Amino acid sequence: MSGAPLLQVRDLHKHYRLPREKLLAPRPLLPALAGVGFTLQRGHSLGVVGESGSGKSTLARLVMALEAPSSGQVLFDGQDLHALDAAALRRARAGFQMVFQDPYGSLDPRRTVGRTVAEPLAVLHGASRAEQAEAAGEVLDAVGLRASDLDKYPHEFSGGQRQRIAIARALITKPKLIVADEPVSALDVSVQAQVLNLMQDLQDRFGLTYLFISHDLAVIDLVCDDVIVLQHGHIVEQGDPDTLFRAPQHPYTQRLLAAVPGAALATSEATP
Ligand code: ADP
Ligand code: MG
Repeated sequence: MSGAPLLQVRDLHKHYRLPREKLLAPRPLLPALAGVGFTLQRGHSLGVVGESGSGKSTLARLVMALEAPSSGQVLFDGQDLHALDAAALRRARAGFQMVFQDPYGSLDPRRTVGRTVAEPLAVLHGASRAEQAEAAGEVLDAVGLRASDLDKYPHEFSGGQRQRIAIARALITKPKLIVADEPVSALDVSVQAQVLNLMQDLQDRFGLTYLFISHDLAVIDLVCDDVIVLQHGHIVEQGDPDTLFRAPQHPYTQRLLAAVPGAALATSEATP
């Protein structure tokens, strides 16, 4: 399967049923994704941008098979994830892991870092305690933390360090794909740069493929080879960030760019 794209998303739809507005009325449907499709090649980073509510996190959950689509397919390494039985899906999960926005909320405060980081391994492979500890030490080292941090608790770390812990946890199953949903949005700007640099280093070192979600166009510009722009669950524009952010064609992309404070991105007017 190595010649095929790592991830192919085909005509993905997801509608949520909202609570009925009055007695006996039908429950309204909210189309969170309305026919999204794209291809992500191995070793590449695809950015997903769009306003709050445009469907970014829904897309992440469907790609991660945390939720089922209303229709459409997610092909990971050639396997249709939403058509797999539970056992096959569990095996496939080692190949794709997620990093969430909130480094405070995504770590269990009562668990040691070692247990949190090793958990995906314990669940997926039933690895022994010793194997888990060794693997956890290795991934902590890869993200710039120390093996001695294994016995500490999340509150003993800064926001940036906690996100490193979350990244270590995602790496422990040796995934091919990392889905990162606003991974640096909760961090101070100086810390954001460190975590983004780390993610780029890890991508080179482990040959990772990223689906990288951010409302921050400057972050996408830095990290991604390609970008899709989501509005109301539709892809309205797609391309490489250099072209797309400097010469946006769709009014929605133009509006997103106009909302970027300062000169974080060189716009078409600034480039000769
Ligand atoms: P984003 O991550 O781009 O902010 P989301 O994917 O979280 O957007 O949400 C897309 C739309 O789907 C929003 O209108 C949101 O309110 C709605 N939505 C998301 N999850 C649910 C859910 N579990 N039930 C009902 N509506 C939802
Ligand atoms: Mg979101």
